[in-house]
Amino acid sequence: MGCMKTFVVGNWKMNLTVGESSLFLQKLQKKIKPAKNLEVVVAPSAIALQTLSLQLERNKSKIKLAAQNFHYRDYGAFTGEISVSQLHGIIKYAIVGHSERRHIFGETNREVKMKVAAAIRNNIRPIICIGETEGERASGETADVIRDQLLSSLSEIDVEDFKKVIIAYEPVWAISGGKSSRAAAPDEVIDVIRLIHTTLADTYGKEIEENIPVLYGGSVNADNAGAYLTMKGVNGLLIGGASLMSEPFCDIVETAKRVIA
Ligand code: PEP
Repeated sequence: MGCMKTFVVGNWKMNLTVGESSLFLQKLQKKIKPAKNLEVVVAPSAIALQTLSLQLERNKSKIKLAAQNFHYRDYGAFTGEISVSQLHGIIKYAIVGHSERRHIFGETNREVKMKVAAAIRNNIRPIICIGETEGERASGETADVIRDQLLSSLSEIDVEDFKKVIIAYEPVWAISGGKSSRAAAPDEVIDVIRLIHTTLADTYGKEIEENIPVLYGGSVNADNAGAYLTMKGVNGLLIGGASLMSEPFCDIVETAKRVIA
């Protein structure tokens, strides 16, 4: 395998004004020192992306930006939407199919695959979120749901573009803010991480599978980050709640540095 980067991605969701986002990023820029093979990414609200992009550029920062969502068409009569082509030059990554998009806004596998294709077409790396609900896990459907979400999300892109793809496994029941959310024990995660890798390898070949980073997300905090990061097949973390506080987020970044050192 080539030297794969480890990713620490913070999803700020619908939090922070533009001014607050800028100040918070300034704090992160001061505290986070770049490290080889580590990519730190934050996903602020769309309204803050351009300001933060200029801020990072001005300071020659290594922190990268991700969009939380976008429309799959490049332009057109889609009132209120933002296309990934409009975000070109501002973001390097884009979260696609986050469980809140799927379950609150009814985003389907079809929309997810169109968005993945749009991101690739615009040279933005999609961070594709997949994960089963509590009910699906309870009724033994986890493997089917994961395979289905994974393969359909990749079905519109060419094989040579697979190296741009990042997968994030986020069990819906482990994402904080849910009704009965709880952090997953590593042994509840490991089988699904393995399933993602074997599905990719069986479908597209080992060489492609080895170059697709698989992140974990769901109630990750400074205390449990190390346990997920040291799991075989996990190449980084997608963090919601703990990414909105500089101390835990920077602690998680430090943990990632130790794990890859
Ligand atoms: C997320 O929303 O992607 C997430 C993982 O959230 P949290 O870390 O708050 O569970």
